[in-house]
Amino acid sequence: MPKPNKTELKKYEDILKRQLASLKGDVGSMRDEALRASDQDASVDHLADQGTDNYDQGFMLSLIENEEETIKLIEEALDRCDGQGDWPFGACPLCIEEIEEAKAKATKTARGGKKKASKKAEAWIPKARLEYLPWARYCVRHQESEERNRETA
Ligand SMILES: [Zn+2]
Repeated sequence: MPKPNKTELKKYEDILKRQLASLKGDVGSMRDEALRASDQDASVDHLADQGTDNYDQGFMLSLIENEEETIKLIEEALDRCDGQGDWPFGACPLCIEEIEEAKAKATKTARGGKKKASKKAEAWIPKARLEYLPWARYCVRHQESEERNRETA
């Protein structure tokens, strides 16, 4: 998978900015709604509805949390587009790590003079994934292993 070119980078950047704007709007209006719901909870008239209001509010808050998480990921991805991130946009940092490790190993064995360098590994996330999820931090393989780690942690 090749590195994204300038046109592609610009396209992802546009998607990211649009997503960011719409998520920020969503979170704003969801917050308003959640706040309104909590005002209503305080009034006796709405006691009967309180059960569902609390449920809605909890649901809303978890939605807001989710969206805030995505906003953070988008902002990080935009930094990467600008070359301000911790790694280049479109690359998987864990793949980069693996490649570095393999390189270090290859240099070691190369000194022994026997083994050929391992075949060229790619750290670039496939286009199909970036188009669907331009703020993805990892390739699918590492995303899955990260999620597994989180579950067992
Ligand atoms: Zn990876």
